Amino acid sequence: MPVTRFAPSPTGFLHLGHGYSALFARQQAGQNGTMRLRVEDIDHNRCRPAFTEAMFEDLAWLGLEWPGPVRVQSEHFKDYGTQLDRLAARQLLYPCFCTRSQIAAAESDPLSAPHGRSPVYPGFCRNLDATERQDRIDAGAAHAWRIDIAAASRQTGPLTWTDLTRGQFDACPELLGDVVLSRKEFPASYHLAVTSDDALEGIEIVTRGEDLLEATHLHRLLQALLDLPVPVWNHHPLIRDESGERLAKRRNVPSLRDLRNQGTAPATLRARLGFSD
Ligand code: GLU
Repeated sequence: MPVTRFAPSPTGFLHLGHGYSALFARQQAGQNGTMRLRVEDIDHNRCRPAFTEAMFEDLAWLGLEWPGPVRVQSEHFKDYGTQLDRLAARQLLYPCFCTRSQIAAAESDPLSAPHGRSPVYPGFCRNLDATERQDRIDAGAAHAWRIDIAAASRQTGPLTWTDLTRGQFDACPELLGDVVLSRKEFPASYHLAVTSDDALEGIEIVTRGEDLLEATHLHRLLQALLDLPVPVWNHHPLIRDESGERLAKRRNVPSLRDLRNQGTAPATLRARLGFSD
C-alpha cells in the first residue's frame, strides 16, 4: 500500500501542470495506497496563505482526497534546524556570505555554466578560514549555509537511486554543486525540507516533475548523511502547451479555478490530462 505525496508551493493558483502532478501522485499510490498532501511554504516572500486555501479547494474539486493532518512546512523550521545541526556536526556545512549579484557575476562567465545546466556555486566562501568566518558572523554579516558536496560525497561513498520509469541512477550530487541548505532569509531550503519531510511522512514513492530529477541526486546524498529511509522516485514529464512550452514558464496559463469557472467538469479535466476514471 504505497504512500505518495503531492507537495506544491502556494505561490499562485494551481494550473493544469499541478493538476497533472497531483493526479499522477494519486495514480502511483494505487487503489489501496495513500496520497499525502504537503504545503511547501517555507519561502514567505513567495507563498501566500490564500493560495494554500485555494489549493485545498481546487484539489478537492478535481476529485482528490488526502489524509490529515496536512504538513505545512512553515510550521516546522525547528525540525529542519535539527537536521541542519546534524550535518554541521559532520563538518559538512560552511557559511556563505556572497550576495546574489556576486554569484550572478560569476555565473555569467560562460565557463562556469556547462551547456543546458544551471550554473553551480563557484565556491568563493568554501575555503575562508575559520577565524574570518567567525569574525564575519560575529559582526552580523548575513549568511546562508552551504553543503560541501565533495566532502559529503567522500563521507557517504558511491550511492544509487531508482526511478520507477527510468531505472537505476548512480547519484551525482556534484551536478548541483554546493547548494544552500539554510537560506539568508529563512533557516531552511527546499532540498533540506523536502528530504526531511519525505522521510518523516513515510513517503515510499516520491512523485514529481522531471524538472526536479537533478535535485534527486542531492536528496539521495542527504538521506545517506542523515540516515533516512530511501524511497523510490517517479519523475513525470511536464505538461506543455500546443507550442511545446512548459506551462510553468508561461504567463496567463489558465488555473484550475479558471477552468472550473468556465464550466469544465472535473471528470473532463481528468480525462484531458490522461487519467480516465
Ligand atoms: N514544492 C515543489 C514545487 O512546487 C515540489 C517539490 C517536490 O515535489 O519535491 O515545485
